[in-house]
Amino acid sequence: MMMSLVRALSPFIICGLLLSGCRSAASDESADILLTGGKVYTFNWDDPATDGAPAKNAPYSSGIWKPDAEAIAVRGSRIIFAGNSRDAEKYRGPQTRVIDLQGATVIPGLVDSHTHIAGLGEKQSRVDLIGVQTEEEAVARVVAFATKVPKGEWIVGRGWDEGAWANRYPTMKLLSERAPDHPVLLGGLHSFAVWGNRLAFERAKITRDTLSPAGGTIVKDRNGEPTGVLLNSATTLLTSAVPPPTDEQLKAYVLAGLNVMARDGYVAVHEAGADSRLMRAFESLAAEGKLPIRVYAMLSARDAELCRAWLAKGPKLDTIGNLTVRSVKAFYDGALGSRGAMLLADYSDKPGHRGVSGEGAGFDRKLVAEMMKGGYQVAIHAIGDAGNRETLEFIESVIAQKLEVKSNRNRIEHAQVVHPDDFNRFARSDVIASMQPPHCAEDKAWAEDRLGPERVKGAYAWRTMRRNGARLIFNSDLIGSDHNIFYGLHAAITRRDKQLQPPNGWYPEQRMTPEEAVRAYSTWAAYAAFWEKETGVIAPGRWADITVMDIDPLSVGATDPGMLLKGNIRLTMVSGKIVHSTKTSF
Ligand SMILES: [Zn+2]
Repeated sequence: MMMSLVRALSPFIICGLLLSGCRSAASDESADILLTGGKVYTFNWDDPATDGAPAKNAPYSSGIWKPDAEAIAVRGSRIIFAGNSRDAEKYRGPQTRVIDLQGATVIPGLVDSHTHIAGLGEKQSRVDLIGVQTEEEAVARVVAFATKVPKGEWIVGRGWDEGAWANRYPTMKLLSERAPDHPVLLGGLHSFAVWGNRLAFERAKITRDTLSPAGGTIVKDRNGEPTGVLLNSATTLLTSAVPPPTDEQLKAYVLAGLNVMARDGYVAVHEAGADSRLMRAFESLAAEGKLPIRVYAMLSARDAELCRAWLAKGPKLDTIGNLTVRSVKAFYDGALGSRGAMLLADYSDKPGHRGVSGEGAGFDRKLVAEMMKGGYQVAIHAIGDAGNRETLEFIESVIAQKLEVKSNRNRIEHAQVVHPDDFNRFARSDVIASMQPPHCAEDKAWAEDRLGPERVKGAYAWRTMRRNGARLIFNSDLIGSDHNIFYGLHAAITRRDKQLQPPNGWYPEQRMTPEEAVRAYSTWAAYAAFWEKETGVIAPGRWADITVMDIDPLSVGATDPGMLLKGNIRLTMVSGKIVHSTKTSF
């Protein structure tokens, strides 16, 4: 009797409870965006050991990764829930936008922690001539581009192959006829030649009377008239005539570059050296609320005036309008390929040479030390083993003067060749090694020629860094290298190039595990920008910064890493805003 009464009443009781529950959920708990049906790796577990072994609390067993969540709820700019689909339902309200991820993989938002973003944007605003086979084809691309450019403004392009075209250089004739209203400058693929139209030559004041400079050639016809092509050092006669971008153009480049990064899955970039003009562009875009992704800007130490101004006002610790400014970038040496990196002993393929020296090396130590003492992180470009040693010595010397400098999360950019005695100094002074997996994939062709078989073991030595307790972050150094995350992850996990060479990897003992590779592009990069409490993992309370892709980088990275190169970005979210999504699926 009692039982049946309860049974008879219970539907009403349950319904009543549910209704009140639903009502409060709708008003208090409902999400703005609910992502369901995904393979979510929150990375909200401990770091892997320095040999790469996942932590005990990682969702990993017997060599297999398992996503640790399926759904994410977002309200405003923050994540309010990450967990299974059933528990996620209580965040579904009448206004909630629900996105079915259809099994796509979600990871904490990707960060490219060393970029030159204006260059990426500028590239978007140039005529791309890579792959053109004929002069007519190149001119046609210019003509199509010209419809978007006000008359009288320069059109700049790049990519026709001056090597392949050496026996049949183009001339200004067709280019001038078809594109008469814009000065046009078209750089060769290898930067040894430029090709221009008549208006460009007029603007640059290059005439039959102009003499070829030493080491260069103004190509002229039988009558002594310039034909339209300049070679080697003569190219600057034309390139120097192109005016630098206006403030508005620079802003447009920055915006275009950041939009490319949003499309490619990145929620943030660390800009490796912004001068006064670039800082103005960032600040103005931030004030207008137009930065689509986060920008962690490093002030260029080469711009002393800019640094002094920031020294006076102090670092901008809060992220306002997606912009953070609390870092300064300096250069110590050059590059390894061009033998500008400073080595402790001679280059193996150039006896008597140890890289740049004298005025070519170093930076304004006094100014940079003042910035560091003023609370700025320093990020110093150092490539050779001498460059790295002297940079470590510099950072250590400033710490010795003021201990707080040690907590500035100072970084060495590239840390490309390090002497065996110096690896443990990174951890000792809390210096972050900021390294580029694409450089390893690309430089392996000649790195051993420069360094010889012994020194090369300390080059691109990610595992040695980790074993010595150094914090490691990964990035592309775009536009010098392709910033595609799948290329970066593949290079980090395999030490192979895009052609999957060499099959077992170049010095494979330095490879990273898939988890380490992803963390170096997300969780650890967040730390390098002082954002580890705000982002870097997917958890309630964090910024809603996430990246969705159609491939599981942990599983595929472990079982068939070559497949990573086929991955695609599906969605990028910054502060709860979807800044990119592939329309077909979402
Ligand atoms: Zn760089």
